[in-house]
Amino acid sequence: MKIAVLALQGAFIEHEKMLAKLGVSTVELRQKSDLEQTFDGLVIPGGESTVQGKLLRELDLYDGLKERIERGLPVFGTCAGMILLAKQIENDQRVHFATMDIVVKRNAYGRQLGSFYRACEFQGIGTIPMTFIRAPYIERVFGGAEVLATCEGKIVAARQKNQLVTSFHPELNEDLSVHRYFLDMIEHNQ
Ligand code: GLN
Repeated sequence: MKIAVLALQGAFIEHEKMLAKLGVSTVELRQKSDLEQTFDGLVIPGGESTVQGKLLRELDLYDGLKERIERGLPVFGTCAGMILLAKQIENDQRVHFATMDIVVKRNAYGRQLGSFYRACEFQGIGTIPMTFIRAPYIERVFGGAEVLATCEGKIVAARQKNQLVTSFHPELNEDLSVHRYFLDMIEHNQ
């Protein structure tokens, strides 16, 4: 199995390390020619969604990736990556891949809670560490998306077929369970 990690900006190296610990090789996507490789899944890291969205278009990676996601490529978006997949962003007019039936709110926890840690329940896994950094949360899911985790009353993880999103950063903790969940998704898809 090989997983592509969008490596334009943000916390992509941390995802690569998590996947390496799980024995999975990764390939970084930085330019259009990188899409010529074959890969079984895609990770979109946290960072800044506006920057990543702009670079995706400028580097001409946007159409090829959107098409692959729509055709069923398993994708895991964390934080900014989740914002890139949302069909609606409550406090931003510009959407990006817009492939997932979720409404998200950017920087939703306000300034005072810029960065914080909680342990909350993730469906099918149990209680796991969740690190939030200027995090969005999911205002609501609709259509085909289902909630996988809520934390203090806010939706923080969801899934829609081949798409998995978390508003927190599982790559910043030792716990490998959400990455393992994503690999299971890929294996059962095929
Ligand atoms: N605040 C960022 C955004 O709106 C997301 C933060 C993150 O990915 N850690 O894109």
